[in-house]
Amino acid sequence: SKKAGKNTFHFYTRKLGNVFCEHFLLGQDLRIGFESNELEVHYQPMAEMATGAVCGLEALVRWRHPQKGLIPPSKFIPIAEEIGIIDSIGLWILRRACLDIKQIQMRSKKGLKVAVNLSAIQFQNKNFPRQVQKILRDTNVDGRFLELEITESAVIKDAEHTIQILKELKAMGIQISIDDFGTGYSSLDYLKRFPLNNVKIDKSFIQRMDAEDVIIVTGIIKIAQHLQLRVIGEGVESLEHLEFLREHNCDLYQGYLLSKPLPFENICKLLEERSSL
Ligand code: C2E
Ligand code: CA
Ligand code: CA
Ligand code: CA
Repeated sequence: SKKAGKNTFHFYTRKLGNVFCEHFLLGQDLRIGFESNELEVHYQPMAEMATGAVCGLEALVRWRHPQKGLIPPSKFIPIAEEIGIIDSIGLWILRRACLDIKQIQMRSKKGLKVAVNLSAIQFQNKNFPRQVQKILRDTNVDGRFLELEITESAVIKDAEHTIQILKELKAMGIQISIDDFGTGYSSLDYLKRFPLNNVKIDKSFIQRMDAEDVIIVTGIIKIAQHLQLRVIGEGVESLEHLEFLREHNCDLYQGYLLSKPLPFENICKLLEERSSL
C-alpha cells in the first residue's frame, strides 16, 4: 500500500542518514586520532616455503580507538582516502615500519624485510618517491629491505604514470609486490608491463580451494615464475593450505598458521623464539 511504501522510504532515509552520520563522525575522529597517535602498526611474518625461515614482515595498520577499541584497516583506510588524509597516514605508517625494521635489524644479522601496503591514492602523488627516499634516509634503512605492496586499483588508474613511479622506487632498491592477485580487475598483462618483483595470491583462492581455484592458483604460480616473479601465498591457515602451495612451488607463505599480525613487541618475541633474530 501507499502507506507502507512511505514508511519504508522513511526507514531507509533514516538508516542511510545514520550510516552517513556515523561515517562522517568516524572521519572526524580519525583526524584527531591520527594526530593523537592512536594508530598502531602490527606485523605478520612471511616465511620461505623451502626452509620455513621467516624472511620478512608485513606491516598492517590498526586504530586503537579510545572508546571503540581496535578498529581494522578495512573500516578506516577507505575513510582516510575519502577525507584526504591517506597521504599523511600512509607516510606515517611507512616511517613507523622503517623505524621498527631498523630496530630488528640492529638486533640481528639476518636482513629481514618489511612490506608496506600502499593505497592507490598515494601513487597519484608525484612526490611519493622523494618522500619514500627521505624516510629511508632518516631511518637509515637500505631500500633493499623495503617492499611496497600495491593492488590492481593503483595500477589501472594511469598505467604510464604508475610505471614511472615504480621505476623510481625500484631505482632505490625497493621491491614491488602486486597484492590480492587474481581478484578485482587483475590482468595478466600487468605481470609483464609493470616492473614487479613479487605476486601475492589472494587468500580467497587459498581458503576456498575448490576445483577451479586449484587450477587458477596453479596457473598463476606457473606464469609468475616463468616471468621471474616470486610468488607469495597469503591466508595460509592449515597444513593442507601449506602443503598445496608447497606442491605447486610457491616461494613464500603467510597466514595464521605461522602467526596472526602482532604488535611490535610481540613480533620481536616471536622472532626470538623461532631464532629468526
Ligand atoms: P591485505 O594487504 O590483503 O592483508 C592481508 C589481510 O589478511 C590482513 O587483514 C591480515 O590480518 C589478514 N590475514 C593474514 N593471514 C590470514 C589468515 O591466515 N586468514 C585470514 N582469514 N586472514 C588473514 P587486515 O590487517 O585486516 O588488513 C586488511 C586490508 O587492509 C589489507 O589487506 C590491506 O589491503 C589493507 N591495509 C592494511 N594495512 C594497511 C596500510 O598500512 N595501508 C593501506 N593503504 N592499506 C592497509
Ligand atoms: Ca598486503
Ligand atoms: Ca592480500
Ligand atoms: Ca586486500
